[in-house]
Amino acid sequence: MSRTLGQFIAEEQLVPWLADNVAHINKASGKGAKETSKLVKLAVSCGACKATKTCCWSLVVARLYEGMIVAARLKDSGRDTPEMREQLRTRAEAMEAASPYDWRTPCLFLDERERCTVYDVRPTSCGALYVYTPPELCTTRAQEIKAYVAANELAAATELEEAFRQRLSLRHKVGRRYLGVLPRMVLVSLEAWDREDFRDYLRQLPWPSGEDIARWSPTTT
Ligand code: SF4
Ligand code: SF4
Repeated sequence: MSRTLGQFIAEEQLVPWLADNVAHINKASGKGAKETSKLVKLAVSCGACKATKTCCWSLVVARLYEGMIVAARLKDSGRDTPEMREQLRTRAEAMEAASPYDWRTPCLFLDERERCTVYDVRPTSCGALYVYTPPELCTTRAQEIKAYVAANELAAATELEEAFRQRLSLRHKVGRRYLGVLPRMVLVSLEAWDREDFRDYLRQLPWPSGEDIARWSPTTT
């Protein structure tokens, strides 16, 4: 019997599997940032940061699986509404048209108290962000920002793409990756959720090439 994406995800326990992996990668980034802090003799600024969280005003590139666990969270918390989908669509289109260096807009998942409302399932690119320079610089950009380079952690996130694709039986697309800007990844997951033809639906979307990805963010490759 055919299953919808939502049924498939629930029966195959994909959300806990993905969320555990993402949490593990994010935890490793935190640990890596602290270890590097000792080497470079600079404290990590993020733990005690009281500045405006402009790190959450950046263009976030996420893998499809990362969008899927955020979509699951929205569904579980009653936030999958027509208004939310419209906001995701509008935001995705704007992000896709923007230069990542110029994008400075608070993330849709940042609340009025500047807390991430999907924190424990936030994408690995968010979980990897730690800086050693004063928090104010994240907003003013008056000097170079020294950030932790989470190469191993992001490589682990890329490895998970293939395991996820195989568990979903999503056919490989030559020269393309199943990733995109975060609001797009959440939106396509929500739109595929109740479809039995979710594999065909997902596969025919205009997935980015390596060149597109390099334009957005070299750290996701
Ligand atoms: S990246 Fe910058 S703004 Fe974000 S928590 Fe760290 S110090 Fe604060
Ligand atoms: S998903 Fe969360 S951590 Fe990532 S940019 Fe949005 S609010 Fe910030």
